[in-house]
Amino acid sequence: MTIQRTVQMTPDFDSELGNSADADNATTLTVILRIAFRAAEPMGGSETRPTSCRIQTATRRVSIGSDWAEDLNGRVFRIISWPSGALTAFAAQFRSQVETVWNNRFFLKFPNQDDQAQAMNQADFESLQAPALIGRKTPFLRCQLRIDAVAEAERHHALMHVINLAPGQSCKFQSFVAQRPGQADIGFLTNRDSAQTSAHETGHMLGLEHVNHTAPACHGNSNADICYGETPLQRRDLMGDGTAVHGAHARRWLEAVALHTGHASGWIATHIEPPLEELLEAAVRRP
Ligand SMILES: [Zn+2]
Repeated sequence: MTIQRTVQMTPDFDSELGNSADADNATTLTVILRIAFRAAEPMGGSETRPTSCRIQTATRRVSIGSDWAEDLNGRVFRIISWPSGALTAFAAQFRSQVETVWNNRFFLKFPNQDDQAQAMNQADFESLQAPALIGRKTPFLRCQLRIDAVAEAERHHALMHVINLAPGQSCKFQSFVAQRPGQADIGFLTNRDSAQTSAHETGHMLGLEHVNHTAPACHGNSNADICYGETPLQRRDLMGDGTAVHGAHARRWLEAVALHTGHASGWIATHIEPPLEELLEAAVRRP
């Protein structure tokens, strides 16, 4: 098996492996999400509905009318048309916000070469390192995320309808992503989503469910509050109600490294940068 450096494409994500290891003996592994953003425009006409922050849970689907949109919770919001160029600006901001939250938050440690059950082919193991650092610095992969905004007619992993909310509304539209493994995910975002919301919805596009999705109450409704975490630690998770990004979110990177190396076992995702771990180990070992 040889290491594949070229872009690997799947229905759920693309990925790219850097050409060489850097001075930390680290190679960059980038997961690429191709997202098509579609302007969700008001329908026009005269049918009116008053805005409302009252939560109804009956419909569980987004609907759009003359100048309003109803979110998953049944709240009604005033919406406006996208001015020329504004959706492109939205996509650029979304990309920047999401990449800032996700990039360099976790790393992949290599399989343990001393363990027969997980060891890589030695030539492949060495080709993923800086030649001068083999045996001197622990190799690892830096995990990065790249968002590519693409046209709907192009190949894409997700199609996001984006609502332009009118200013001055007091409640928050519930953005969401419907995951469709093997097909482009679909969902709704708004012009006023926070960086946290954008990064959370991107987590769904990366195949992640809510942090506490195994709770019985989440089986019927994966957006019930308890699905976002029942402990403070879970609440702080990006896939809960917070911003913490860590190794448990590395699912696509673990799939990607298997595609690039042909070797799936033994990779470990961690939020602790391996050189730091080495320093700590050295400190512990010091007599
Ligand atoms: Zn969610």
